[in-house]
Amino acid sequence: MKRVLLGVVAATVVLVGVLLLRTFQFGPPTEELSGEAVAAHWDEEELAAGLARAISFPTVSSAGVDTFDYAPFYAFQTYLQGRFPLVFSRLALEKVGPASLLFRWQGQDTSAKPILLLAHQDVVPVIPGTEPEWTYPPFAGTVADGYIWGRGAVDDKASVLGILEAVERHLHEGFVPPRTVYLAFGHDEEVGGKRGAVAIARLLKEQGVQLAFLLDEGGVIAKGMVPGVEQRVALIGPGEKGYVSLKLSARGLGGHSSMPPPQTAAGAIARAVHRLEQNPFPVDLAYTVDFMRYLGDAQPFAQRLLFANDWLFSPILKNVLAADPSTNAGIRTTTAVTMLSGSVRDNVLPITASAVVNFRILPGDTVASVVEYVESVIDDPDIDVSLYDDFGSNPSSVADTSSKGFQVLSEVIRRVSPQTLVAPRLVVAATDARHFNEVAINSFRFVGIELGKRELAGIHGTDERVSVASYAEAVKIYYALLTRSGDL
Ligand SMILES: [Zn+2]
Repeated sequence: MKRVLLGVVAATVVLVGVLLLRTFQFGPPTEELSGEAVAAHWDEEELAAGLARAISFPTVSSAGVDTFDYAPFYAFQTYLQGRFPLVFSRLALEKVGPASLLFRWQGQDTSAKPILLLAHQDVVPVIPGTEPEWTYPPFAGTVADGYIWGRGAVDDKASVLGILEAVERHLHEGFVPPRTVYLAFGHDEEVGGKRGAVAIARLLKEQGVQLAFLLDEGGVIAKGMVPGVEQRVALIGPGEKGYVSLKLSARGLGGHSSMPPPQTAAGAIARAVHRLEQNPFPVDLAYTVDFMRYLGDAQPFAQRLLFANDWLFSPILKNVLAADPSTNAGIRTTTAVTMLSGSVRDNVLPITASAVVNFRILPGDTVASVVEYVESVIDDPDIDVSLYDDFGSNPSSVADTSSKGFQVLSEVIRRVSPQTLVAPRLVVAATDARHFNEVAINSFRFVGIELGKRELAGIHGTDERVSVASYAEAVKIYYALLTRSGDL
């Protein structure tokens, strides 16, 4: 009896030891900061004025080719040309599609693979009727209360203008990049990017260009958004989820509803939808565990212990993460039933019934594997599963976080913004970067602006804004990254 007890005690001590050891080792790879400090002075008010003016051009993209109004885009580009004369005169400019821009800045070493900084000129519309809810009109371009206000302030004109400010200054200072740098500004990201980013990527591919590094929007410096972590966290997206909507259809006989069969087409669809909601996609904790690793000891001890020992605690982690939609989105392909239709009258049996279900696909799954999973879960040969709108987009490739690109970007962020943690975070929305899978080895998604919960709500919503100080920070990060572009 005593020996059994001793055995249990010894095993417990060993287990606790292993758990603690793993916990204390659970942190980002330690790197010494190399490269020079970023000393350049910037006039923040002047930068803010430049972004504010950019917002005043209502470059709203439209899904319909006929309804797309290019006039604001051309006016916007005339403004850019006036503000960034060196960029427009010294860099080679190729106009792609109706309103996209591709600049090529020749580097010193033409044998080195080029890099690409990507952003989009277009913005989403303001929902009609919500204009009065804005503190300042959405297309006035107002600088007030320490913020730059308006549609596009964050998404994505801070990025377009930020990149151009950094390059213009480098040109003014006589800087020649160590390697060739492309700047690409699409005009239709918010409606799929087909005539903008897709065309730019195709053009680069035709020219045989292979990019060493690509940087697009998608991640930001998050403030107060990572539970349990006080420090700001720069979220760098190494990849993004895919997107597909599936239409489930069932056929019935129709007829009068006074003598119905036990189940109508609408009932069959309801059962299929229920099965999908009851059987969510399998969980993959890898991306979340990797993110938590980079938070290291900045997170609460218990949280660090759990994630460091996912081999033991994964059942708990899965339950906790699945319970919150924002964390659930990071661990699996998500299922959202969005549209339903049945009979056109209350007393007529439906001849057809259908549901549309939207899936955001975790890297590892594909459009094809989602269709396969859905068919097996529904398990009903009478229900037809097809692509909705004939559209499906696989997840992007996931960039290597041990690559030079990630390390240098991470160093630049910590140089410009000391006290900021850096962590890889899968992007759950779609960006233009996904179109560059074939031409870019490593694509990352990050703009160095700081967002809290309030600013986050403004993206695609009301009162979109970015703080003057934080926009300047983003510009400095682009500037410093270009200085270090030889190391990428
Ligand atoms: Zn965007």
